[in-house]
Amino acid sequence: MLKHWIVIYISIAVAGLLLLLGLSLWQAVAPVLLVKLGIDAWGAIRVDSNYYMNVLCKAPATEKAVALSFDDGPVNSFTPQILDILKEHQVPAAFFCIGRRVEEAPGLVRRAEEEGHLIGNHSYSHHALFDLYPVYKMKAELQKANQAIEAASGVKPALFRPPYGVTNPMLASAVKATGYTPVGWSVRSLDTVIREEDKLFERVTRKVSAGDIFLFHDTAAATVKILPALIKQLKREGFAIKRIDELLNIPAYA
Ligand SMILES: [Zn+2]
Repeated sequence: MLKHWIVIYISIAVAGLLLLLGLSLWQAVAPVLLVKLGIDAWGAIRVDSNYYMNVLCKAPATEKAVALSFDDGPVNSFTPQILDILKEHQVPAAFFCIGRRVEEAPGLVRRAEEEGHLIGNHSYSHHALFDLYPVYKMKAELQKANQAIEAASGVKPALFRPPYGVTNPMLASAVKATGYTPVGWSVRSLDTVIREEDKLFERVTRKVSAGDIFLFHDTAAATVKILPALIKQLKREGFAIKRIDELLNIPAYA
């Protein structure tokens, strides 16, 4: 598995070798740096790269089970409808909540927890520049989100989902210092982009395998529309729908 620290060592070694071969400093360092930046970017945007930090994205396929997760809520527009559908079909899910939204709608988090769903941490602000924050600011984001969730529902999430699925050295340090377990996904719905219900349903059902973790957003109208059909189809195909912590066999709360 490609790791950031390994790439650093290899880059230094290759640049050193090129210098020994008589190339100028610029000729030796520039191409190496360019390749390294490309690999770094790939590692940052692929949530399952495990490049900067390990992120759990899929369970071992030991049983025919999958998990559903909903990010960026709670919001009054769609979270209640999603909770209603999950209740009707008796399916557990995970909600990776944004701290500031928890403060705006604490009752929804309380309801989700009481109805048996997992509450996870998805940062306090989910700010567009979150991934450029220094470590201390990221740590504060994670802790502030957990405080909001605990105040609303009484639980202290142990699972954290990186905003935008982006990882980098600062986040790796912040997560290590705060002790959260980072959780990603293996089926990305792109429901914040795909608005057509048919296309969304097609995308999330075309290649499902045991251990998959679905990423949805409880801020997307199309997700509410396709959720009943998705649950029915998964059940029909023999998949058990489990809570993410159960699927991954990890503790949900601290
Ligand atoms: Zn998000």
